[in-house]
This record gives sequence, C-alpha cells and structure tokens, in this order.
Amino acid sequence: MLLHRPELAADPPTDARPPVVWEDTACPLCGHDDAAVLTEAADPTPGGAGLRFAVVGCRHCGLAYTNPRPTPATIARFYPPGYAPHDVRPARDARPPSRLRCRLLGRPCPEYLGQLPNPPGRLLDFGCGGGRFLRRMAGLGWAVTGLDSSPEAVRAVRDGVGCEAVLGTLPHPDLEPGSFDAVTLWQSLEHVHRPLATLREAHRLLVPGGSLVVAVPNFGGLAARWFGPHWFGLDLPRHLTHFTPATLAAMLAAAGFRVTAVRGWVHAKWVRASAKRAAGAGAGGPWTWLCGRKTVARVAAWAAYAAGRADVVVAVAERPV
Ligand SMILES: [Zn+2]
Repeated sequence: MLLHRPELAADPPTDARPPVVWEDTACPLCGHDDAAVLTEAADPTPGGAGLRFAVVGCRHCGLAYTNPRPTPATIARFYPPGYAPHDVRPARDARPPSRLRCRLLGRPCPEYLGQLPNPPGRLLDFGCGGGRFLRRMAGLGWAVTGLDSSPEAVRAVRDGVGCEAVLGTLPHPDLEPGSFDAVTLWQSLEHVHRPLATLREAHRLLVPGGSLVVAVPNFGGLAARWFGPHWFGLDLPRHLTHFTPATLAAMLAAAGFRVTAVRGWVHAKWVRASAKRAAGAGAGGPWTWLCGRKTVARVAAWAAYAAGRADVVVAVAERPV
C-alpha cells in the first residue's frame, strides 16, 4: 500500500550515486499489510531538506514503521557524511563506567546487568560504528568482533581500536552459527530493513544460553509524545522501525528469544535536541521552550525514565538452552 511517495529533487549531474528507489513494505513483525499513518516528519539532516516521510502503525500487532522507504541498495543516500553514529574517531575513554555511575546516569551497563556470561566470552557488536563499545568490552576480557555496513567504521575498528571487524550485515558468510556468547545491537536494529530476520540470525549466531542486548529509540516514550515529528529519535528515513518496549519484546519473542529484562535509558541530550528542533520549526509552546534549557531537559528526561517511558529502551534476552 503506497501512502506517500516523497518527491525528490533531480540529482545534481556530478552525483554518481544511484537515484533513490522507494519500496512499500508490509509490517516487519507480523507481515500484515494493514496500517494507518501515525505521523509524518521531514528528514532532519541538511541534505534531506524538503522531503517528508510517513510512520505507519500496524493494525494487527501495533508495530510502527516507516513506509514507504528507500530500498536497502539506495538508503545510503540518506546518510550524510559525518552522520553521528558513524563517528569513527577513537574513543577518548575506554574505561568502563562504574556501576554507581551507570545507576546515577540512568544508563545501561550490559556487563553489569548480570545477564552476560561471566567469565567473558565471545561478543559480536552489530552496527559497531567506530568501536567504542568494542574497546570497552575487550578491556573487560571479551573476545570482540564488530560488524558494520560502513567501510570507514570497519577500518577504524581494525586499525584504530585493534579489534576484529567485518563489513556487512546479518546474515554474514564469515560468521558461524553458535560462535558467540553475546550479541549486542546498540541503536542499530531500527536502521535495518528486515529486523526480524536480523534477530533470527543473531539467535543462530549465539550459543544456547547466549545473551542478546538491544537498545532502540522508544517510540512509546514521553519525549516522542511531547515533540511529535520533531522528536530526535524519529530520524526519518534512516530509522525504519519505531519500537516501543512492547513491540521490541514481541519481535524478540518472535525471533525465538526469552526476554529477561526491559529497561529505560536516560537521554537528556535527545530531549534538548528535540526541543530545539521543534522551536526551530516554530512548533511547541512553553514546555518546548523550557526543554531547550539544559537543566529542564535533564529533569524532563529523568521524569520520563521514572515514569517508565524513557527516550531509549534496552532489552536483554537469551537464546533458550
Ligand atoms: Zn504487524
């Protein structure tokens, strides 16, 4: 079902990249093709000016997803140079934060969640970017492997961090079934076209009893409600699936996992960035203006976390034995 097909400006003659090809998709979770438009938003990056995209909600399972969307072969056009998650600069500090610091900052520390195997084993980080997390886990004794679709990121991990990294996505021919004790996906699952297939492959790569950690923006969070199309976590059209704690847990279960924990993650920077984006578009009222202040953004992010509706949701799951 085609709901919106953004009009694209003609490519500049010097641009050798292939033009964007659009595709319509059924629900990435249940497969039904019966959805209603939930919101529409513009591409917030400078190169995406003028394009608007639709997020639809499946009437059968409730999953929200971007539709229509650029095909896997052409979505790279929407990743501008310097896209933050592809930042391949070396980590300034590879030391893991203390348990107390994690608790005070409202951040997840997978190595402290009590879910990952102890002693450390083999870990795959899907969407590893510049390798900050890999470096941290390697420092804790894990044998780490990074996987990323960006050649620059893979090069940075191999040469800069000194860890193993492979180029591509899942499934990957170089990764053997049952060869990892843990797989992590830090804000990468929302970027893939077939998230259920990605999770099923992660399941296959894990040993029985192995752990999976997934963090994604929380479409059911309070900030998503406050800022609507200006919410930082929407990031259209790069984010293709817009999870809530419930739909993330449902997809993990559909992939064969047993979910053991679902937690929030405080992201005050996202609240502030969303507020500024809304104010810049002339949207929002006093609350938007207030959330543009650093202190208020922090309080708001903590309030959302305390209410169980933080900006990011982290799920821990295991491959049943
Ligand atoms: Zn569905």
